[in-house]
Amino acid sequence: MSVRVLFSAPKSDWEDYREVLAAAVADLAVNATFEHAVFPDNPEAVDYIVYAPSSRLSDFGPFTGAKAVLNLWAGVENVVTNPTLTQPLARMVDPGLTEGMVEWCVAHVMRHHLMTDRDVCRSNAAWEPFVPPLARDRPVTILGLGALGRAVGQALAALNFPVTGWSRSEKSVDGMTCLAGETGLRQALATAEILVLLLPLTPETEDLLDADRLALLPKGAVVINPGRGPLIDDGALIAALDKGDLAHATLDVFRTEPLPESHPFWTHLKVTVTPHIASATRPESAARVIAENIRRGEAGEPLLHLVDRKKGY
Ligand code: NDP
Repeated sequence: MSVRVLFSAPKSDWEDYREVLAAAVADLAVNATFEHAVFPDNPEAVDYIVYAPSSRLSDFGPFTGAKAVLNLWAGVENVVTNPTLTQPLARMVDPGLTEGMVEWCVAHVMRHHLMTDRDVCRSNAAWEPFVPPLARDRPVTILGLGALGRAVGQALAALNFPVTGWSRSEKSVDGMTCLAGETGLRQALATAEILVLLLPLTPETEDLLDADRLALLPKGAVVINPGRGPLIDDGALIAALDKGDLAHATLDVFRTEPLPESHPFWTHLKVTVTPHIASATRPESAARVIAENIRRGEAGEPLLHLVDRKKGY
């Protein structure tokens, strides 16, 4: 009998995914049928839910037969606390998304490292040759050493940046100095000429970068945040930029998205805003991850990328 999979995501996602999902399950010889609906008939007969937190589905209660919810996004903060969710929740770790995040982070680190904005001469009055340090002399810190932080850290280390990474549990990653805990965080911030945030949003990480922690960064440091907006205290960040303690912030994610028109980040000369585009799930590679999890679920094998509901990620 065919496994019944509900695709609960906006219609535009369905257009992107319907064919690649069908191809991915066929490749694994999994007999699954996908349907796009907000409130399907016979919800108790749905076996898996492929879920985007932007979907209108918020009550998982009727899906009494569902074996798992497979999140289409890497971040799960909008679903992990849903009290109706009793099924196992897997998040998205997509090789395509990881590749995109590596490219975005490397581009923005390089922009600040090479001071590319300063280099671009718009008239001969700006002809001021400047030699930036080599990457080997520009310490970078990544907060979060998960699927994304590790990949970004290793790409930067391959370019010779001295990379320090920080995570909850102790780790060892080739080419990087890995730290953990509060003392590790202070040490990781103290050396960070460029700081990249790749932490999930949880009660523990909200406002992690407050005024006290921002003050630990070296003078003139740059903050790059493709993680989640609430990781940083916005007011403290603006104050540190205004005082000249920080040189720049490149922000892809915000407390409220889209960033409200009146928000001071829009006009701040030391802030670059990007519209939550650091990296997206790529349908073709993500479909293979979903198909593999359905195969595992049906074979009674452990699912990939299960979320720890207590930790929140
Ligand atoms: P993972 O779950 O793989 O990694 C999370 C990392 O953060 C882990 O190293 C974890 O530590 C660490 N961490 C979590 N909580 C704490 C804490 N309290 N103290 C210290 N370290 C902590 O996530 P991903 O790498 O896949 O993704 C990271 C985030 O990136 C996502 O949650 C999402 O918010 C964001 N994202 C943004 C996108 C964009 O376009 N802007 C696109 C995709 C993701 P440990 O390893 O010890 O568990």
